[in-house]
Amino acid sequence: MNDKAMAGADELPWLAASLDETEVMRTGEAMHRLLSRLFPICRSITGPGVRETLAQLTEVVPLSITEIPTGTPVFDWTVPREWSIEEAYIEHEGGKRYVDFRDSALHVVGYSTPVDQWTSLEELLPRLHSLPQHPDWVPFRTSYYKEDWGFCLSEKVRQSLPAGRYHVVINSRLYDGSLTIGEHLHAGESDDEVLVFAHTCHPSLANDNLSGIVVAAWLAAFLGGRSTRFSYRFVFAPATIGSIAWMAHNEPGLHRIRHGIVLAMLGDDGPLRYQRTCGGNAIIDRAAAAVLRSRYPGSQLLDFSPWGFDERQFNSAGIRLPVGRLTRALPGHYPPEHTSADMPAAVSPAALGEAWRACLRIFDVLECDRRYINLAPKGEPQLGRRGIYRQAGGHYDGVPERQLALLWLLNQCDGSKSLLDVAEHSGLDIQLVAHCALELQQAGLLEPAL
Ligand code: ZN
Repeated sequence: MNDKAMAGADELPWLAASLDETEVMRTGEAMHRLLSRLFPICRSITGPGVRETLAQLTEVVPLSITEIPTGTPVFDWTVPREWSIEEAYIEHEGGKRYVDFRDSALHVVGYSTPVDQWTSLEELLPRLHSLPQHPDWVPFRTSYYKEDWGFCLSEKVRQSLPAGRYHVVINSRLYDGSLTIGEHLHAGESDDEVLVFAHTCHPSLANDNLSGIVVAAWLAAFLGGRSTRFSYRFVFAPATIGSIAWMAHNEPGLHRIRHGIVLAMLGDDGPLRYQRTCGGNAIIDRAAAAVLRSRYPGSQLLDFSPWGFDERQFNSAGIRLPVGRLTRALPGHYPPEHTSADMPAAVSPAALGEAWRACLRIFDVLECDRRYINLAPKGEPQLGRRGIYRQAGGHYDGVPERQLALLWLLNQCDGSKSLLDVAEHSGLDIQLVAHCALELQQAGLLEPAL
């Protein structure tokens, strides 16, 4: 067997098994290219930047677009007015522009109201946001729900502003429009769904959350044309108001979501970190734990916290969907987060590609995790007679745990235990257990329970 054939040999026989290192890297590079192209776009919780981003994503995967009008009540919230911006700058009376929106979408506080006025430096300073602890970085600030305006700039530039008069211009508009959500459904055998969510509201920021957007898009693209047991629903929406609006808009169908995962901050060089659902023991939690433990040494499993990304909304008291979260960096613990240092150069194709493969491996566990019934349950069946102990050419031949996995499966499969149950009870790897279950099924000793 050559290296390429070996690469996926011990994968579950569904999605990730067809991947080799070259494809993972090539996919990471393609994701990074689109991420870099989307980076300059001025996204916000509403407005043309989100639409433009979703339009470009359709080069990777078809999306259906939902526009929810301004003023629509969504649970305890109301869809806000739409925001768009043409230009913004701070120009000294001497003619020099110290801050210009054309250089970076971060320079204007998101949702700034329009302004066109002359002001003194003293009057201007309270409107300026910088990061003294990182004097070269420009922070990302918003004022979504309070009418206000302001600029963000590096501390270095702020310190360099000379005395005098400044022409301050923000050519923005706030108007009745809509909030835009992109969605892709991969139909599986079952109507039961796996939800994949990525937030879309951050302007020129790469890891948070263009990384989540591109990984989700390439997952959806990969599933295209492949048959799966579950249906997979990909939702691209602004953080908080977007997930809330999407749930409010789709409440009658939410019961179809069996498993879910929020994707964010997947392109930095940190280890993969999975945050459990608020119940802590959902199948997605167990599937992610099985994959991270066996495949990603140094990865971390974290308990739920009602602080972070949109998993908060999906796990809220009146919704309680089993939605976990996969990131590398943790929100609040990644210094470049919400600053100009979160740029494409700080995100690597390799990290994106591996996060993508990790998701497919988690999906594989979801796909394979079912209950089986032993068809010869009285005493142990005679395995030697069926040739199961020595399957020539099987990847797990010679793996000492293989025989144990066969015995555990035959012992546990009375129709009440899933493969994850067997793997957890036995301490054996889920991939090994799933492979052995297939062997036993092919030998006529196991059949899926209904
Ligand atoms: Zn953020």
